[in-house]
Amino acid sequence: MRASPSRRGFLSGALATVVARPALAQTSPRVVVIGGGFAGATCARAVRDHGAAVTLVEPSATYTACPFSNEVIAGLRPLEAQQFGYDAVRRDGVAVAAQAATSVDPQARQVTLAGGSTLDYDRLVLAPGIDLRFDALPGYDEEASKALPHAWKAGEQTLLLRRQLEAMDDGGTVIIVAPANPFRCPPGPYERASLIAHYLKTRKPRSKLLILDAKDNFSKQGLFQAAWKALYPGMIEWVALSAGGKVVRIDAASKTLVTEFGDHKAQVANVIPPQRAGGIAQVAGAADRSGWCPIDPVTFESKLQPNVHVIGDACIAGGMPKSAFSANAQAKVCATAVAALLRGAVPPAPKLINTCYSLVAPDYGISVAGVYRPANGVLTDVEGAGGVSPANAPPDFRALEARYAEAWFRTITAEVFG
Ligand SMILES: Cc1cc2nc3c(=O)[nH]c(=O)nc-3n(C[C@H](O)[C@H](O)[C@H](O)COP(=O)(O)OP(=O)(O)OC[C@H]3O[C@@H](n4cnc5c(N)ncnc54)[C@H](O)[C@@H]3O)c2cc1C
Repeated sequence: MRASPSRRGFLSGALATVVARPALAQTSPRVVVIGGGFAGATCARAVRDHGAAVTLVEPSATYTACPFSNEVIAGLRPLEAQQFGYDAVRRDGVAVAAQAATSVDPQARQVTLAGGSTLDYDRLVLAPGIDLRFDALPGYDEEASKALPHAWKAGEQTLLLRRQLEAMDDGGTVIIVAPANPFRCPPGPYERASLIAHYLKTRKPRSKLLILDAKDNFSKQGLFQAAWKALYPGMIEWVALSAGGKVVRIDAASKTLVTEFGDHKAQVANVIPPQRAGGIAQVAGAADRSGWCPIDPVTFESKLQPNVHVIGDACIAGGMPKSAFSANAQAKVCATAVAALLRGAVPPAPKLINTCYSLVAPDYGISVAGVYRPANGVLTDVEGAGGVSPANAPPDFRALEARYAEAWFRTITAEVFG
């Protein structure tokens, strides 16, 4: 149970600033949050705790979480363990509009929903996550993803990749195509490679896994590669950008991945394409030419649209990776800033934390942590804070980190959706 929101708490602040913002003292300010993922659901509840009237716009009745979805692909966990509803969010006093937002008018401060109705706002928070760029990799579009799953939005795609691995013969080649930065969950493709290798080692040991990468280094690289050598010797091959790893074209019918250095044929191909901020952020005019949304690092207010904030994977968060942990932390900072701005107060400068756990095997976890603060208009690493798991840790240390990872997932999903 969470404490009930204190409308009085918000209004007492509003009354203190009645001269600056007289209109807001008359009625409860209206905040609209688009997207009910780790960022949006957290933010809606936190803004409500500050006493504002909040509407969360989210078309899906069930949210399917990506963290731990690699375990579903490896057969270690059912998809249902990833799924959460919005009843607790509603019980907190957040109105949930179960439709997609189709447009935003930042001048009129109005959101239009798929059904045609509109929502007025004083402040809007965009938390739509990512769109997969089906225009970025020749030969790979939404249709092709039905044969070569991305599984980068959890749900049916996760199960499709799982079923393809189950159907593959022992001795087959699995290929993961990994994108250039920035993208959702920097360690994700390598955790996925590890857990698929775990499945292959135990069920189809003559198989191989190839990672074709559009970059020359990746998150927790030393730890992953040392673990692959120890746990899956000879099974995983990583091909860096400079070694010809960048896929430039895909022939979906024959599952052939074309690089400038040659062709690779897969029995199972997992193509993780380039990404950008979710479509509504583009429609709202909050994304720049990179496809992502520049924000003020103190308030998460858009640098392109006034009274619009962007959090989670969709925003450009400087050194912070696109993770559920980051999304949750950004959402709380943003909610505090929105409440302060609605009162006419100055939002405090935040410090944010991120920790990304990855499982290399069910009892082998590794992590990377960082602390971030605003500096020179962006979120910057606090030097000397954070770091990665030690290189030569004993097995019981790795097993403990695996337990920490599971505990983190239980805790964050209970906080956001429970
Ligand atoms: C395989 C994998 C493993 C991962 N593992 C981890 C991990 O171990 N730890 C970690 O911290 N992170 C992990 N992540 C990353 C994490 O899933 C994302 O960073 C996180 O989900 C971002 O949260 P978000 O709220 O920004 O976006 P999302 O979770 O994608 O939520 C966005 C929501 O917005 C909604 N939406 C979109 N458009 C609209 C619209 N127009 N109108 C209304 N609603 C809309 C969507 O339906 C969705 O519910 C992993 C990701 C993957 C793919």
